[in-house]
Amino acid sequence: MSKAISLLSGGLDSTLATLVVQRLGIDVTAVSFMMPFGCDTSDRSSCSRNALPVATQFGFSLKLCNLGETFLDIVRFPRHGHGKNMNPCIDCRILMLREARKLMEMTGADFLVTGEVVGQRPMSQKKNTLRMIEKEAGVKDLVLRPLCALNLAPTLPETKGLVDRRRLYGFSGRSRRPQMDLAKEFGLEEYPAPAGGCLLTDPLYSQALKKLLKARDSVDYYDIQLLRAGRQFWAESNAWIVVGRNRTDNEIIRNLRKPGDVLLQVPNVGSPLALVRDPRSSEDIRLAGALCARYTRRHGEARVMVETESGETLEVTPLKPEEVERFRP
Ligand code: SF4
Repeated sequence: MSKAISLLSGGLDSTLATLVVQRLGIDVTAVSFMMPFGCDTSDRSSCSRNALPVATQFGFSLKLCNLGETFLDIVRFPRHGHGKNMNPCIDCRILMLREARKLMEMTGADFLVTGEVVGQRPMSQKKNTLRMIEKEAGVKDLVLRPLCALNLAPTLPETKGLVDRRRLYGFSGRSRRPQMDLAKEFGLEEYPAPAGGCLLTDPLYSQALKKLLKARDSVDYYDIQLLRAGRQFWAESNAWIVVGRNRTDNEIIRNLRKPGDVLLQVPNVGSPLALVRDPRSSEDIRLAGALCARYTRRHGEARVMVETESGETLEVTPLKPEEVERFRP
């Protein structure tokens, strides 16, 4: 029996591609990539969805592959540049295909499968780009795209007779109708709405990330997660200040603190938690206090007492709304 590795995000297209190949009698193993920036099946804001339910329903095996640090490098310096925001989609696809190829070789699979549809996404799904991505990933002619195969030249699994090309599809463009009809055919009733992409396609998050990457030579998992919590500010000294928006943010901020961080709050009032990472001077702590006080009900007062986690206190003047803006990333 022929074997294939299918890149499965859990979205509709990659699920259908997997099922089409499975229906041809191929032994399919799906792989879902886990990445920072919420491109991760465990994360609701992600472009990926939990693929386990569909794998269980249709009886194929699913492997999870963590691309953490490697992915961080390509976000910082993508060979093919960023998309509209910080999303390095082309480099990201190349990385995933390279990793999938490794898995293909390890498991003795014959080819790879993706749910890409030509013309569906502006950057990474044009015909020429698909070819270039394959070449750079070292998987030329090995990637079968069952949903749009009839619009592309036959791949190795087709020419070798492992796959019957007549049972593949010729979808193209952005319409979802053909996919929805095919989903019905497979009895696939629940599937996620199409996602625009991972967190890196979000303009606000991208702006915050850009600032972080500019300000720091190295960033880690804690930094990446902290970017998603609360209100983000940067002092002129490049100290990073995060002020919680609600109880959940406050908890996240507390859990993500690192040695050297300073946590502060306004005592005896419903106060957000403020965190200062890499404070360069007491001025940075004071600024964090003024930002923190700004988001309490004492924001109109001239002097407000702020307390650090270690019990030190300082008096600050809460910042005015218009003063806050200059500290945004
Ligand atoms: S949106 Fe682009 S960068 Fe983000 S996971 Fe998808 S392909 Fe990768």
